[in-house]
Amino acid sequence: MRYEVDFLVVGSGIAGLSFALKVAPYGKVCILTKGAADEGSTRYAQGGIAAVMYDSDSFDKHIHDTLVAGDGICDREVVEMTIREAPDRIRELVQYGVNFDRDSSGGHFDLHREGGHSEFRILHHKDNTGEEIERGLLEAARSHPNIEIKERQFAIDIITQHHLGQRVTKHTPGIECYGVYALDCDTNRIDTYLAKVTLLATGGMGNVYSTTTTPVISTGDGVAMVHRARGVLSDLEFMQFHPTSLYNPAEKPAFLITEAMRGAGAVLKDRDGREFMQKYDKRLSLAPRDIVARAIDNEMKLSGKDYLYLDARGIGKKHLIEGFPTIYAKCLSIGIDITRDMIPIRPAAHYQCGGIKVDRNGESSIKYLYAAGECSCTGLHGGNRLASNSLLEAVVYAHNAAMDAIESVKGVPFKNEVPDWNAEGMVLNEEMVLITQTKRELQEIMWNYVGIVRSDLRLQRAFDRLNLIFRETEDLYNRSVLTEPLSELRNLIACAYLIIKMARARRENVGLHYSLDLIEKKV
Ligand SMILES: Cc1cc2nc3c(=O)[nH]c(=O)nc-3n(C[C@H](O)[C@H](O)[C@H](O)COP(=O)(O)OP(=O)(O)OC[C@H]3O[C@@H](n4cnc5c(N)ncnc54)[C@H](O)[C@@H]3O)c2cc1C
Repeated sequence: MRYEVDFLVVGSGIAGLSFALKVAPYGKVCILTKGAADEGSTRYAQGGIAAVMYDSDSFDKHIHDTLVAGDGICDREVVEMTIREAPDRIRELVQYGVNFDRDSSGGHFDLHREGGHSEFRILHHKDNTGEEIERGLLEAARSHPNIEIKERQFAIDIITQHHLGQRVTKHTPGIECYGVYALDCDTNRIDTYLAKVTLLATGGMGNVYSTTTTPVISTGDGVAMVHRARGVLSDLEFMQFHPTSLYNPAEKPAFLITEAMRGAGAVLKDRDGREFMQKYDKRLSLAPRDIVARAIDNEMKLSGKDYLYLDARGIGKKHLIEGFPTIYAKCLSIGIDITRDMIPIRPAAHYQCGGIKVDRNGESSIKYLYAAGECSCTGLHGGNRLASNSLLEAVVYAHNAAMDAIESVKGVPFKNEVPDWNAEGMVLNEEMVLITQTKRELQEIMWNYVGIVRSDLRLQRAFDRLNLIFRETEDLYNRSVLTEPLSELRNLIACAYLIIKMARARRENVGLHYSLDLIEKKV
């Protein structure tokens, strides 16, 4: 089937939905999403969204905290713009119907504080902020007459001059996007979506690693598509590992224990119940994520244990049950009463700071192609994302991209000469085990050699192992009918390759990139 839409959006998390709502008055919008519409990292976000809402805080402080977390390599102008725009975007979320908790008078927002923040500035909805944001935005989008949401539609590749038979390399000037090819997961048919403007809002790539807090849909599809289309990507060596995911080995994704809990007074302890953060940073359990994750990784390696503890008992029973109801209920469901027991935790891949390189308007290096949310790289996070700045970045850049796209959509024709997908000669691959097993292998390689602590040798080993997996999978791809699992596997391999490549190129320890071979070079 062929479809024509003014604005094509791939992804229905906070970034895709925010963009769609903004452009909808100006044309027909189609949102493709590979699972259920509400499935994505957005709905798992617990802590909240950072913004300076009152005089007790200041833009300068939030800017400073963001720059410090980013370890000196944020784009300062982007940081300033994002943080100054934040209050307007928060007010819009409220207008769309999102509820943030308010203080007991019901007037001011109730603000939390998280690691790396010098002030209380995290707007939240209990400890399930993302679920509330997703609910509010999805309801608004579903009731808009110009927005169509199509579930179980898997975008495979963005369409460029390459699909018109032209040779496209990363040096080709003026690469353009004409839409996407997408797999209908129910019929296995590949459809052509022609669009005047396309936004990728495909989220993160946490599933490159064996332990991750991100949902199974986070397979780096947008990044891999842009890589194949020869677009510019950046900063992928900066994968953020959340220090505290609940240790419950059989569970995927790993359940997150929000940083807000440490903000409220929970402390990290070793298996003997002793605090250890004093050995690593004077901010103790409230040090930025990269420092805390490395400290936990080191303690686990020294002791040979596969989890440590977060002790939240000092927060008090009432505050724990009322302030962290989701975590309380989750832990209780596996026999841990957090008002009495310490919580077993370990780090997990959590957030990709890098991605599709975009300018201030959210436009990628490919014309008519925008990106927003976790799949993009704006320069806000630098070497490390400050907690709760990612939902903020997603709404700010969805807004900027929408404003720009509303202008650039004018006068752009559909590229009708784009051919349909050619699946001739392909056979259905019955060997599912090849895909599932390869995925597992890939995730283990990345966890073991390209994780929190790296070295030249580990990166080389990962690269060599990956090469074999890449060749085997491309061979499978070249003779098989395309399916969602195969496409995801190819995308994960592409993302892993890019992470390793960028990690090898980064010759200093900065932010989240930490190599044993570069320790002495740290200034
Ligand atoms: C457990 C957890 C807690 C977090 N807590 C916080 C927090 O408190 N504060 C904060 O700021 N950030 C937090 N984050 C990070 C934040 O939630 C994410 O960065 C953000 O929600 C990403 O939004 P998004 O719109 O970019 O992508 P997502 O919400 O991940 O949405 C991606 C969308 O793209 C679709 N998609 C992907 N690939 C394809 C494809 N090939 N074809 C079609 N559709 C596709 C998916 O189906 C989905 O709809 C947390 C993340 C996790 C995992």
